[in-house]
Amino acid sequence: MQRRYSVDLAKLLEVPHRRFNPLTREWVLVSPHRNQRPWQGQTEPAEREAAPQFDPACYLCPGNVRAGGVPNPPYLDTYVFDNDFAALQPDLPSIEINEGGTNLLSAASESGICRVVCFSPRHDLTLAAMDVASISKVVDVWVEQYAQLGALVSVNYVQIFENRGAMMGCSNSHPHGQIWANQTVPNIPRTEEESFLVYSQQHHSCLLCDYLGLERSAADRMVFENDSFLVVVPFWATWPFETLVLSKRHAVDIAALDDHERNSLADILQRLTARYDSLFQTSFPYSMGFHQRPTDGQEHKEWHFHAHFFPPLLRSANTRKFMVGYELLASPQRDITPEEAAHRLRSRP
Ligand SMILES: [Zn+2]
Ligand SMILES: [Zn+2]
Ligand SMILES: [Zn+2]
Repeated sequence: MQRRYSVDLAKLLEVPHRRFNPLTREWVLVSPHRNQRPWQGQTEPAEREAAPQFDPACYLCPGNVRAGGVPNPPYLDTYVFDNDFAALQPDLPSIEINEGGTNLLSAASESGICRVVCFSPRHDLTLAAMDVASISKVVDVWVEQYAQLGALVSVNYVQIFENRGAMMGCSNSHPHGQIWANQTVPNIPRTEEESFLVYSQQHHSCLLCDYLGLERSAADRMVFENDSFLVVVPFWATWPFETLVLSKRHAVDIAALDDHERNSLADILQRLTARYDSLFQTSFPYSMGFHQRPTDGQEHKEWHFHAHFFPPLLRSANTRKFMVGYELLASPQRDITPEEAAHRLRSRP
């Protein structure tokens, strides 16, 4: 695809500038000129270790015994269980402190449920290597878990996510994700909810429906699409190859997707992860997850279902971006522009 930017964007792409993230209402610093500096780092492709289809030492493989002595069943497609080392616990007594009412020492007990979702019994697969029919079964499990956990009075938000690769702190390469369901809406979805609400009050439309329209007409940051979903490197991306997977229809949550849209979601996840893998010829590490309406019993028409992919790789399988120094103290910053990142992802199979 030929790259043709608007005049003003073309000018901005020559100079340091900041971009606004309308979901978090924060700014990211973009420094395109720094791409010209010489790069001294390693660029050789990472060695790809061939994983076995079954690993007797893996606590997620079928039939193996997990910590605590519980054996996994001989499952054939997906398998869900409560995390043996859960960060949250259900049915806690309500404890709250706020010394002197100043919020200087404020805390409250937080109950919740953490589950693990095995995507496949095959230890050696990834979403990129699975077929769409198998990923569709994973989508069905996400829908079922979102509905089941969300129906609990004590659960007001369900966060579905996947950590992939040792670089993202995932020690087990068996294809799996996690679901954390808790009592309060966590920081980032709460901030996004406020952004959706403020935007709809100001513009009488949906923030992400409008954004989707802009990206489709500009095509600068589009990566690819199918019937029901579209992938862009968002205008405000922080991570080098960050992407946003947008439902084309205004759906408030994963349970609102019809059968065709669920298959489309499986298809877009398979193709996006395969594209990531081919970018640096490696099993691409990332954190991904869905954002959707809280399960507090309200309608939340303002929410637009979407997924974020945050991969850390920058120039090669071995070169990652660190969020350090300026990022920790001031603002996120990136060198490669979102437009260039989208172009590179588009040019992959
Ligand atoms: Zn395994
Ligand atoms: Zn929308
Ligand atoms: Zn989001």
